[in-house]
Amino acid sequence: MSAAAVVVVGAGVTGLLTAVECALAGHRVTVLDRGPIPNPRSTSYDQHRVIRTFSPDDADATRRMTTAHRRWRTLEALLGTRLFRPVAVVSARPRERLAALAAAAAEAGVRVRTVERQALPHMVLPPDTAGLLDEAAGVLLADRALEAAARWLGAHPAVTLRPYCAVTEVDTGSGTVRPAGGERLGADLVLVAAGPWTRDLLGGRPVVLHRQTMVYLHPPPDAARWWQRAPAAGGLGPDGLGWAVPPGDGTLLKISSDAVCREVAATADGGAEDQAPWVERLAAAAPLRDLDRYTVAAVKTCHYAADAGTGGALLARVGPAVWARAACGGSGFASAPLVAGHIAGVLNDPKDLSDVRDFREGAA
Ligand SMILES: Cc1cc2nc3c(=O)[nH]c(=O)nc-3n(C[C@H](O)[C@H](O)[C@H](O)COP(=O)(O)OP(=O)(O)OC[C@H]3O[C@@H](n4cnc5c(N)ncnc54)[C@H](O)[C@@H]3O)c2cc1C
Repeated sequence: MSAAAVVVVGAGVTGLLTAVECALAGHRVTVLDRGPIPNPRSTSYDQHRVIRTFSPDDADATRRMTTAHRRWRTLEALLGTRLFRPVAVVSARPRERLAALAAAAAEAGVRVRTVERQALPHMVLPPDTAGLLDEAAGVLLADRALEAAARWLGAHPAVTLRPYCAVTEVDTGSGTVRPAGGERLGADLVLVAAGPWTRDLLGGRPVVLHRQTMVYLHPPPDAARWWQRAPAAGGLGPDGLGWAVPPGDGTLLKISSDAVCREVAATADGGAEDQAPWVERLAAAAPLRDLDRYTVAAVKTCHYAADAGTGGALLARVGPAVWARAACGGSGFASAPLVAGHIAGVLNDPKDLSDVRDFREGAA
């Protein structure tokens, strides 16, 4: 398609990267967000997000995330900002599975190696497990990526950023968007990437809304140096549900656990919820050794919407010219370049009639 008009609703990572990809392909893009761009209240706006490449038992997901990883590295060059901390990601795995997982990774062309528990002295691994280190994986400096993308888009002549412009309606039949105030915006392609709020604008596939508590920590002085070189980690704690993102490049150590991830009906009451019981529950899940020696710097909650069937992130065609990030998923930050690439691909080849893309990354 020659230069098309693209409207993107939502300026989280999905919307911003899709706008970048479409502008690079020569299209005219308008990005609307109900808040500032980027919006600190978006799901994406946090110090860090983990990107894994190896998905055990899912060769397709491994291939997709390897592609996403490569795209993140080219985005660093394009946006002129370092976005990736190559710290690797370690996941606690049952010892008896390690050999099979290493063989699967080798077959998928992904470098992994075993890390013994004594090399991870500040993390708690479940009994009878060792760490499997995904060497190419690491941490994306999330808010830095959003700021850089918004700067790049703001300077691009074919891009219009419209902050503080809430969309109240999307007509999936005609491919028009109605911002508050009554105006109608038509486009050759509309992407609704409103994160966990996408379902408020569009019905369609059922999604499950999750809220999760995250705690930001300062390590005790005698552990601070170790943490500066530590990998991100999953499968932590006696129950294997915890994870940790190491500090570095101006970010804090962050921990959470699936034990404090709960299904909720709406995002609205999130700010008013008392976090103390959830912080206690997270401490009880014990992802780190001697957690009481760490200083709490901040506590935050965050929401994501997962597809009710797969638990993952989905891009769906909901009208002839309207696509929606129907579920943003727990791996939705890392996989955003795949959505962006797919939307740019649809513009280049509008005959692509496939209507659902699964962007699941796989389990921790
Ligand atoms: C605790 C937690 C940990 C996570 N960890 C990881 C991780 O390690 N790795 C990973 O890859 N992913 C992770 N995720 C998931 C990831 O953060 C999200 O999937 C991703 O950030 C979603 O991005 P998005 O752009 O689709 O949505 P968002 O970032 O939520 O952006 C949506 C935007 O739409 C705007 N908007 C909403 N409604 C309207 C409207 N009506 N009109 C205009 N604008 C509107 C909002 O203001 C917002 O700016 C995690 C999620 C949580 C909750």
